Amino acid sequence: MSKWENNIRKVVPYVPGEQPKDTSAIKLNTNENPYPPAPGVAEALRNLDPASFRLYPDPSASLLTEEIAKLYGVGQDQVFVGVGSDDVLAMAFLTCFHSDKPILFPDITYSFYDVWADLFRIPYEKQPLDETFRIRTEDYKKENGGIIFPNPNAPTGLFMPLDAVEEIVRANPGVIVIVDEAYIDFGGTSALGLLSKYDNLLIAQTFSKSRSMAGMRIGFLLGNPALIRLINDCKYSFNSYTMSQAAIALGTAAVRDREYFYECTQKIIRTRERAKKKFLELGFLCGDSMGNFLFVAHPKYRAAELFAALKDAGIYVRHFCTPERISNYLRVTVGTDNEMDALFAFLEQYRPDDRSN
Ligand code: PMP
Repeated sequence: MSKWENNIRKVVPYVPGEQPKDTSAIKLNTNENPYPPAPGVAEALRNLDPASFRLYPDPSASLLTEEIAKLYGVGQDQVFVGVGSDDVLAMAFLTCFHSDKPILFPDITYSFYDVWADLFRIPYEKQPLDETFRIRTEDYKKENGGIIFPNPNAPTGLFMPLDAVEEIVRANPGVIVIVDEAYIDFGGTSALGLLSKYDNLLIAQTFSKSRSMAGMRIGFLLGNPALIRLINDCKYSFNSYTMSQAAIALGTAAVRDREYFYECTQKIIRTRERAKKKFLELGFLCGDSMGNFLFVAHPKYRAAELFAALKDAGIYVRHFCTPERISNYLRVTVGTDNEMDALFAFLEQYRPDDRSN
């Protein structure tokens, strides 16, 4: 052991889904969008001038925040942008969760939350989902230092109605409630309408799913101007230039094309609903996901085995070993119709003991 080891920070990092080198793999493991971004994004890319790269980007990314503000009908001072929602959520944790009391989030949820809490030494208490994997609003009415949950939740995909979201926000005026809406554009209703009513509400969204821009890393927060200013203060105490010139220009183009966004999300919703039916026909349990993924389990298959068999066949899905309650589930991203057909063709001929032969 090195002499310095007791004096450094050690954390258990978040483990992202695999990015296989094989480009022919069917990738249904990280909830990316199977369709390309809006055509305007390619044009904005062609218009980028490398000569301008010698300059720092606009630290406030104002082109992008202006476009997002216009889209959602909020003030530009209510928008904070960053390098994916992972970045904006980390900044929100750092800024908003600064209490000795534990923050609350579900026991089955996005597995980055406890990583940020540990990193920033924020105490936390996980609240168990009920037996149908639903969030119980009453669990979020005890004393706490802040609250975060995704809506729809991940990896279950289950959407919590807005009146339940409001109940939690209303019951906690003394802390910030973050609603992580990474998957809201696939059929859920955003808490956006509650922003004018509650100054303790913060909404996080991403360009990675519904806008097909996971590789560009763009996410944003919507909240009241005073809170957004405080989050900006933390950001500027950390890194002024989080958004590259390219991310600002291409993200702005993505937001402008509202028609493409609508068509693309509708296509995914249609494929998801078809896939839900198919999973049920094949004997899987499949919840009513409102995300761009499905959370499935088969009473006769072991998820870890099916995961490995699919991977051998070049089909990547996601398997979480913990918590125990979901260890027999797989999370399957909604791909194109053809990709889903390939998955179902595999499942139709799958026999659990195939691999032990
Ligand atoms: N929140 C949830 C619930 C997610 O599933 C993800 C995707 N891994 C994120 C946030 C982060 O997405 P990104 O950083 O790509 O915006």
